[in-house]
Amino acid sequence: LSSRASGILSSLDIPTSAEIPGVYDGQWKGTGDIMESVCPTTGEVLARVQSATPTELHVALEKSKEAYHYLRTIPAPRRGELLRQIREALAAKRDALGALVSLEMGKIKTEGIGEVQEFVDICDYAVGLSRMMNGRVVASERPGHTILEVPNPLGVVGVLTAFNFPVAVYGWNFSLSFAAGNATLWKPSPSTPLCSIAVTKIVASVLERNGLPGAVSALVTGGKDVGEAVVESRDVNLVSFTGSEAVGRVVGKAVQSRFGKSILELGGNNAAIVMPDADLSLAVPAVFFGAVGTAGQRCTSTRRLYLHRDIAPKFLDALQKLYATVRVGDPLTNGTLLGPLHTRAAVGIYSDAVQRLRETGAEILTGGLRYEEGTLRQGNFVQPTIAVPKSTDPKDTIWSTETFAPILNTAVFDDLAQAIEFNNDVPQGLSSSLWTRDLRNVGKWIGPEGSDTGIVNVNVGTSGAEIGAAFGGNKSTGWGRESGGDAWKQYVRWSACTINFSDAAPLAQGVEFSA
Ligand code: NAD
Repeated sequence: LSSRASGILSSLDIPTSAEIPGVYDGQWKGTGDIMESVCPTTGEVLARVQSATPTELHVALEKSKEAYHYLRTIPAPRRGELLRQIREALAAKRDALGALVSLEMGKIKTEGIGEVQEFVDICDYAVGLSRMMNGRVVASERPGHTILEVPNPLGVVGVLTAFNFPVAVYGWNFSLSFAAGNATLWKPSPSTPLCSIAVTKIVASVLERNGLPGAVSALVTGGKDVGEAVVESRDVNLVSFTGSEAVGRVVGKAVQSRFGKSILELGGNNAAIVMPDADLSLAVPAVFFGAVGTAGQRCTSTRRLYLHRDIAPKFLDALQKLYATVRVGDPLTNGTLLGPLHTRAAVGIYSDAVQRLRETGAEILTGGLRYEEGTLRQGNFVQPTIAVPKSTDPKDTIWSTETFAPILNTAVFDDLAQAIEFNNDVPQGLSSSLWTRDLRNVGKWIGPEGSDTGIVNVNVGTSGAEIGAAFGGNKSTGWGRESGGDAWKQYVRWSACTINFSDAAPLAQGVEFSA
């Protein structure tokens, strides 16, 4: 192991031994298939992780259930105090954990640290929430009666996560789930096991210090088999799944078939629309960040760019100049803006998408190739690409498919209504952004005839959401909402409790039923 990698792992108490246990249910274990964690920058094998066997998963689920039975008896504000301690423990390791995200996932250091900060922020949010997860008192039509809407803990929440946010997505789910009184069982992406082990160690240290069962925050690493078993288990009351549309479709059906609850956070295919009155000095860098940031591997990455005819040449000229300055390289080096794609397979998907663009007559304005120079060859580095496809039909595969790589397709429009049609006419509905200084455009954009995505921005790019608002998308993005807003309400079971304090027992709606 390189000294840099072993330094980062050691700083997070991850052993640098031959094989690392990847299951935690109060104890660390793992005797299932071995998963390799591979550094996308250098190709170095960072660790070999022992995943969960079916028996180990079964035991973890049993322990999670027991942990839930314990946690649900702890008052919510006290759970908030425990979350505050978890927040402190995470903040103390922010830089080390951020570095591990960069090392294992491949995003640049500031984004890796930002991702840990997001977990810290959502802990703060959930600490507050722990004193505000209120039910309601409803006026009853019957005299001497009161109706209460009561939230109670739900049970075991299974969280399945994607590779691209290997820390924050678990953070969003765990914090709300814990505040609500549930045990959370995490099945992370098989290619980012070290991030999940590091997070679980930090959380577990606080749980153990406070005498809580470790399975309050259980971890089962593994691939598709482990994921399927979690999804199909009746012991999992809520499945929160983040990943591709293809897998989400299978997961959604499986959970529905056993009448479980699910939250689906699936692929995005996000557009930015630039009106002729937009402030280009803001819009150009925002599109640059949206399309090139995280090497195009955010669910909210900008993949489609619609430019008003009057400003299109000027905009593309300025954007290409920015693309030409992008600093590619090691994501852990200060100043790098473009790290690698996460896997070798993703490089193939990028190359295939570029080839398809070429075959269908698109003009490639910039990019389109792998970086092969020097040490870049060892990693999965690809050139950020801007293309002008021949067809502007949003139903064309080029426009309607999420390619998880830094490829930005662009087209010209003549009026806002047409741009909104382009924006909406794809299967996905996660994020969108309009650039304008005209209030009338804003009204149309956020209103009934406007953008149909879950995140609808104005003069703000498609990616980089804050935790305060509910995060999620519509249509084939799955309709899920996580993080802020009313998202917590999904992590509890709601009861409508009608209580009769009177000496009579009238029926609702005036129904008479006396013998
Ligand atoms: P993926 O769908 O390949 O994998 C996601 C998770 O599902 C992994 O943990 C994987 O092991 C597991 N899995 C695979 N097959 C399964 C099955 N049959 N049953 C149960 N679990 C199974 O996704 P990925 O490549 O890791 O992530 C990229 C995708 O995630 C992109 O489409 C991206 O847009 C999406 N994403 C969405 C959001 C959002 O909030 N909407 C956030 C991040 C990523």
